[in-house]
Amino acid sequence: MLGLMQDWPLLCHRIIDHAARIHGSQEVVSRSVEGPIHRTTYAEIRSRALKVAQRLDRDGIKLGDRVATIAWNTWRHLECWYGIMGIGAVCHTVNPRLFPDQIAWIVNHAEDRIVITDLTFVPILEKIAGSLPSVERYVVLTDKAHMPQTTLKNAVAYEDWIAEVDGNFAWKEFDENTAAAMCYTSGTTGDPKGVLYSHRSNVLHALMANNKDSLGASASDTMLPVVPLFHANSWGIAFSAPSMGTKLVMPGAKLDGASVYELMDTEKVTITAGVPTVWLMLLNHMANNKLSLPSLKLVVCGGSAMPRSMIKAFADMGIESRHAWGMTEMSPIGTLAALKPPFDKLEGDKKLDVQQTQGYPPFGVEMKITDDEGKELPWDGKTFGRLKVSGPAVAKAYFRVDSNILDKEGYFDTGDVATIDEAAYMRITDRSKDVIKSGGEWISSIDLENLAVGHPKVAEAAVIGIAHPKWDERPLLIVQLKDGQTATREEILGYMDGKIAKWWMPDDVTFVSAIPHTATGKILKTALRDQFKDYTLPTAAA
Ligand code: ADP
Repeated sequence: MLGLMQDWPLLCHRIIDHAARIHGSQEVVSRSVEGPIHRTTYAEIRSRALKVAQRLDRDGIKLGDRVATIAWNTWRHLECWYGIMGIGAVCHTVNPRLFPDQIAWIVNHAEDRIVITDLTFVPILEKIAGSLPSVERYVVLTDKAHMPQTTLKNAVAYEDWIAEVDGNFAWKEFDENTAAAMCYTSGTTGDPKGVLYSHRSNVLHALMANNKDSLGASASDTMLPVVPLFHANSWGIAFSAPSMGTKLVMPGAKLDGASVYELMDTEKVTITAGVPTVWLMLLNHMANNKLSLPSLKLVVCGGSAMPRSMIKAFADMGIESRHAWGMTEMSPIGTLAALKPPFDKLEGDKKLDVQQTQGYPPFGVEMKITDDEGKELPWDGKTFGRLKVSGPAVAKAYFRVDSNILDKEGYFDTGDVATIDEAAYMRITDRSKDVIKSGGEWISSIDLENLAVGHPKVAEAAVIGIAHPKWDERPLLIVQLKDGQTATREEILGYMDGKIAKWWMPDDVTFVSAIPHTATGKILKTALRDQFKDYTLPTAAA
């Protein structure tokens, strides 16, 4: 027997319809790429998104066609986001921090028909446009007054482009499993892979994000997503915030500590989300200038492990931070370290211990850890295994890649190595390719990095495995010191000694002026492994 409830397809544009009708006057504030602060509302965003949809429809963009955005977080980007999805086209967010060759590879693989971009990226696109045969037109997110001279094919200023239609248009109708958006993984190993979200997965993911122990923003919150719309489906914020009527503050092109601080301060931001590098810049700026953020309640931090010292720095200012783990393939939320009973009563170091884990999944994500043969491992907080996940917002395949990515039970292997404890708190020990294999045992590079950045002189730390004649691999600690600091190998090792198992201690420490990062702010271990490929550890000589 079937239930007798309405057939109400879960379509992304229903979110902006809801925002416009129920929270129509709620503000979306942006730092524009041109400079000034811009203010609009959800009602206005919806009506301009309808113009985008109408214009795309008029330009012959059809169901399933890909439209790329290479753009910062602004109101215009959000309008395009909903406008593209609202006619059943696929909003393909491209990460502009990738190398131009990678951008070209991705745009060609996706066969994007239109590229919508910001002023910032016009020069980069001009260099590669000749090798992008599928692109019929470039739309620059600006107005006539700021539109540059450009060689880009059929280039038009966004404001002119949408001014040519009247907005008297209705969203298209289609099945909820229709593709809505696409985001490529960063491809630090091999070619990038396209993850194709559906309308249904995005709507369900928004509901997961709205849970109080997840991002949990409400209509009385003001949220600043430092995480770009192009990073892993905007962590779902472009859907969850409008679905709740949360005020949005979009930081545009300026993500440095001073600029983010200024927006948070003037707009009285209550919730924010981003990667650890961003928070490092914000915390440094605040410490150097003795600043505070009394309105800020919650900092969601993911993408890389959140160091303990960072959780503490926020806590010392009365700001809760919530460590989150996820990935592009998961839309991206996987787990969040909210404190459930009895841990919500904890204080001090014990509380930090729990907050430093990657947390537990919200309803809608199931996880397990297995050995290499796929046998499930116990949730005892000690046993490491491959972390595998399933859920309605988890990928089952990559775009145009013909291979099965799920195990027999339908779980996706995340490529991460983790422990899960009795209370379901998961802890990432490493990416499977970064874990250091010493004498048949595993050493977590993340644990060592987190410990090293706790040293007051250390700005950032990376650990890689170096070949060792006896142990196979041993850890090398690579340190970038804070500006103006000097330190010795012994000083750093002395600080770490006693805080980890003896055999986990790095065999050597080396200092660099800068640690390289990926386009999404992660430590670029492939580059470091390359840089130190001929390194001989002092312990290897004997
Ligand atoms: P990108 O490299 O483009 O950012 P993803 O966002 O998909 O791609 O990266 C997902 C990976 O990032 C995860 O598989 C995991 O290795 C790492 N990661 C994400 N969040 C955390 C976290 N809180 N702690 C440790 N690693 C994390």
